[in-house]
Amino acid sequence: MAGGGRARPNILVTGTPGTGKTTTCSLLSDATGVCHINVGDLVREKGLHDGWDEEFECHIINEDLVCDELEDKMEDGGIIVDYHGCDFFPERWFDCVVVLQTDNSILHDRLSSRGYMGPKLINNIECEIFQVLLEEAKASYPEDIVIALQSDTVEDISRNVTKLTEWFNNWRPL
Ligand code: ADP
Ligand code: MN
Repeated sequence: MAGGGRARPNILVTGTPGTGKTTTCSLLSDATGVCHINVGDLVREKGLHDGWDEEFECHIINEDLVCDELEDKMEDGGIIVDYHGCDFFPERWFDCVVVLQTDNSILHDRLSSRGYMGPKLINNIECEIFQVLLEEAKASYPEDIVIALQSDTVEDISRNVTKLTEWFNNWRPL
């Protein structure tokens, strides 16, 4: 059953770090009243990881612990999940999967000003060039719920938020 019996839909916003997931989700949350879950923050706050990756300077996420933590909330609906990965969440959780995409040179500048350098910077730029998150989303969810949105400018963000707000408000359970 579409929507899995939820009264409100769940949205996954994914994409390479720096493509604007958190900015987009905060605005979408303001516009719709849905609950924004930043998975990176959740992992840090609740310790849902298996230590620290020295090379990429990030926590090694424990995917099972994250899914267990979120399961009940996702059943209720009205959740926006914000994460730079998407293949380990249950397919049934989401009614829409948004993949944000950014021009390589713009993304390079954003990540540099965030302090990314060396392998972490290169890895993320390559991730965007090879459309890793779009491919991952298409491989993990029905193709008709996956949507790629460009996120180069602030105008792009406004347009994306407007579009997703309309989608959210028009969504009906089957
Ligand atoms: P993510 O959560 O995907 O890592 P953020 O939302 O934290 O990305 O954005 C990273 C930085 O890039 C922030 O400083 C944000 O203001 C900026 N940014 C993100 N998307 C855009 C955009 N479409 N236009 C202009 N600046 C953006
Ligand atoms: Mn973020």
